Amino acid sequence: MQTKLPEQLIKTPQGQKANDILRSCVHCGFCLATCPTYQLLGNELDSPRGRIYLIKSALETNAFSQKSVQHLDSCLTCRACETTCPSGVEYGQLIEIGRDLVEQKRPLWQKIARTSVRKLLTSPVLFNLLGSVAKHSSIQTPAISQQGDKGRVLLLTGCVQPTLTPNTNHATKNVLATLGYEVVETAQKECCGAIDQHNSAHGDALIKIKRNIDQWSTLLESGITTIISTASGCGVMVKDYPTLFKPDDAYYQKAVSVAAQTKDIAEFLSDQDLSSLSVENTKISYHAPCSLQHGQKLPNLVEGLLSKLGYELAPITDAHLCCGSAGTYSIFQPEISKQLRDNKLENLSQSQPNLIVTSNIGCQMHLAKGTDTDVKHWIELLDN
Ligand code: SF4
Ligand code: SF4
Repeated sequence: MQTKLPEQLIKTPQGQKANDILRSCVHCGFCLATCPTYQLLGNELDSPRGRIYLIKSALETNAFSQKSVQHLDSCLTCRACETTCPSGVEYGQLIEIGRDLVEQKRPLWQKIARTSVRKLLTSPVLFNLLGSVAKHSSIQTPAISQQGDKGRVLLLTGCVQPTLTPNTNHATKNVLATLGYEVVETAQKECCGAIDQHNSAHGDALIKIKRNIDQWSTLLESGITTIISTASGCGVMVKDYPTLFKPDDAYYQKAVSVAAQTKDIAEFLSDQDLSSLSVENTKISYHAPCSLQHGQKLPNLVEGLLSKLGYELAPITDAHLCCGSAGTYSIFQPEISKQLRDNKLENLSQSQPNLIVTSNIGCQMHLAKGTDTDVKHWIELLDN
C-alpha cells in the first residue's frame, strides 16, 4: 500500500512503525473472511482492511471523524486478521497507533467513563474490595507449594484472577507440585499492563510493566526457570513487552529475557510427562481465546494436550472467532459483544458438553454470563 505520511511524522518511532506496517498491506482482503466485526456488521469500514485505510488516512491528513472513531472502537483487537494475512501485516500494533489518534477525538464524557473503568480494573486493592461482595466460584483447599526436584517456576497469579476464579491458580499449583515443581507466586500488585496499553494509557502501562520486569528479572536471576501464565490475555501482553522498548532502552534486554521465559501453562505442560496426573472424565467443549491462538500464535495447543490426555473434543464451528470478551470490549461495546458470545456459546454447545473450558479469565467470565453450563479454566480438569 502506498503511503504519504508527513515527513515529520515518519521521523518519529511511532510514525515510522505505522508507515512500515501500512506499506506491508497489499489490500488483498483475505482478512475480511475471518474478521468477526465484518461478519456481523458487513461494512468494509468494520473490517481490518477498512480500518487500515482509516488509520492511514488519519495519519496522512491529521483528520479523524466521529464515525471513524466508532469503526476503530468496534475492533476487538482479536488479531484473527493477523493469523489470516498472507503478508504478515502487524495489525495489532497498527490499531494501537490508531487508538492513540482516536483518544484525541473522543468526547470528554467518554474519556472519563473509560478512564474510570480502566482504573477500576487495574487496581487490585479496589477490585478486591468489590470482589469480596461479588459472587465468585468456591475456593478449594489452597495448594501447598512443596520443594520440587524438577526446579522452580514462577506463577503469575494475575490481578483479577485470584478474586474471580481462585480455582485456576489452586489447580495450577497442585498440578505443578504433582509434576515435581516448586511454585513461587508473585505478590502481584500490578496488572500486566494490558488494560492500560489497549486503552491508549501507555504511560500508566509502562509504569506497571517496568515494575513487573524489575520484579520478575530478580526472580529469574535467583534460579526461576520459567514464568507461567494461566491467563492467555496476560501472557500475550508479557510476551509483547520487548515491542514497547527501543533496543537501546535500559529495559529492552530485561524485557526480552522476561518474554522469552514466559510460557502459557499449556505450553509448559506440553513438554512434560503427564502420566502421573489423573484427569476428570467428562464431556467438554474447549473455547480457544484469541490471545492464545492469534496473539501468542499457539493454535490447537490446548486441544492437542487435552486429546492426548484422553478427551474427545468435538470440532467447534468458527473456533477462530472471538467470543466478544476482548478486555474492556464487553463493557464498551455490549451489543456486538453479546452477539458474539451468543454465537460462540451456540457453537460450543453443539456437542452438548457437561462443561465448557477455556484458557483466559476474561473469556471464562464472559461466557459464563450467557450459559447455565459450567465454564472453567481447562487446568482444573487435571487437578484431581
Ligand atoms: S490480508 Fe493482510 S495484506 Fe490483505 S488486506 Fe488484510 S491486512 Fe492487508
Ligand atoms: S483485530 Fe479482530 S475485530 Fe479487529 S480488524 Fe482484526 S479481525 Fe477484525
